[in-house]
Amino acid sequence: MKELDFDVIVVGGGPAGSSAARIIAENGCTVALIEKEKEIAETVRTSGVTWISDIKKFGIPEDCYNPIKKFSFCSPKNSVVIQDKVAKAAVLDVRKTYKFLAKRAENSGSQVFVSTNVSEVLQDSNGNCTGVIAKSGEKQIQFNGKVIIDASGFASIVAKELGYVKQWKKFGVGAEFEVKTEKLEYDNWWLMVGEEYSPAGYAWIFPTSKNTARIGVGIGKPDSDVDPTVRLNELIENKAGPIKDLGQIEKIEFHYGLIPNEGLSRKTVYNNVILVGDSAGQANPLVLEGIRYAIRFGEVAGRVVADAIRNDNVNETTLLSYEKEWKKAIQSKINSAVKVQNRWVGLSDEEWDKELSIINELTADEFLDFIRADFGVSKMVKLATHHPKMVVRQLFNMVKGT
Ligand SMILES: Cc1cc2nc3c(=O)[nH]c(=O)nc-3n(C[C@H](O)[C@H](O)[C@H](O)COP(=O)(O)OP(=O)(O)OC[C@H]3O[C@@H](n4cnc5c(N)ncnc54)[C@H](O)[C@@H]3O)c2cc1C
Repeated sequence: MKELDFDVIVVGGGPAGSSAARIIAENGCTVALIEKEKEIAETVRTSGVTWISDIKKFGIPEDCYNPIKKFSFCSPKNSVVIQDKVAKAAVLDVRKTYKFLAKRAENSGSQVFVSTNVSEVLQDSNGNCTGVIAKSGEKQIQFNGKVIIDASGFASIVAKELGYVKQWKKFGVGAEFEVKTEKLEYDNWWLMVGEEYSPAGYAWIFPTSKNTARIGVGIGKPDSDVDPTVRLNELIENKAGPIKDLGQIEKIEFHYGLIPNEGLSRKTVYNNVILVGDSAGQANPLVLEGIRYAIRFGEVAGRVVADAIRNDNVNETTLLSYEKEWKKAIQSKINSAVKVQNRWVGLSDEEWDKELSIINELTADEFLDFIRADFGVSKMVKLATHHPKMVVRQLFNMVKGT
């Protein structure tokens, strides 16, 4: 079997893996970025909604996204539109963005291996991980590394093989068609809630260009046993809600994916091993968006790992600064978002109609903070005590847990 040695092995060429690999290479370490598919982002498993402030921070080019400044919601008997003056949200061209991130990692010196499927882990006599074995075509390759980063997304292949984690039990399943539309308000997204759209989750229309959009359905498991693909086809066929305003629809591509939804339940650092992105469960549970966290904490993981290698100490205690940093950044926000999510999962159609009226009382900035789960303590206290509308004060009192 061919054997290759690197300082760091990153498993998974998604946003988390590419971001970690880039920072590691920039810091002078050797790194292998391993992706099982034939090319980066060959399969799209995400809707790609994110925020322009984050996109800019990450240096993602403008031709990788479609800006959004109108946020529309509909429930069975209500609908609200929150209009912003400038676009602060965006829908990514997922393939282009993920390829851009991987290319940037490669340009920084990472060695990218595609069509390379990691199937086994290697451990020394103390049980510490020393590398992985991957299948590439008919050949097997052994990758030896001082640190292994599990950025394999929902699969968490490394952590699972090491016996550190079990399969996620609570997760979201999403099915989506990228479509060409006859008519489209291309800076307006739609979130559709209530039993007809999704019994535990929501449906969406996310415009990707002047005449293309992603129409999808996300369903929480095990809360509901509805198949999102079946529901999606029904909604498109029946031209439900705002789908009818799109006119003729031509399906271009089908997307399907799974995303963990267990809050921050996982330990993400072990001797020589770090979990990042979906593998670590780092997603905003309110709308299950994790791309910006995958990139941001991929970069943190990269920095911590490169430092550890430079100092020749890659044990759990040293790598723990990664977990401390990302938890400090988002733990309390995620915990607050979990409370809102729990409230939303239990809403009946009539309650959704009322919830939309509460959302309608938020300004565009308040709404964005809310949907982004950007619940800073001082902002939350301000909304809970000083917002002119009592229903909003009640909502934020619930979020902050009083
Ligand atoms: C239906 C759906 C809609 C979503 N919508 C949004 C959204 O609108 N906005 C948002 O921010 N987030 C969204 N998310 C979540 C978002 O996709 C993830 O949080 C994000 O992609 C996590 O990045 P990652 O790098 O951790 O994992 P991934 O993007 O999943 O990348 C993991 C990579 O590892 C590779 N891999 C897996 N196993 C192996 C192996 N054995 N060997 C080698 N490679 C392997 C995979 O092929 C993949 O390329 C959505 C998720 C789903 C399922």
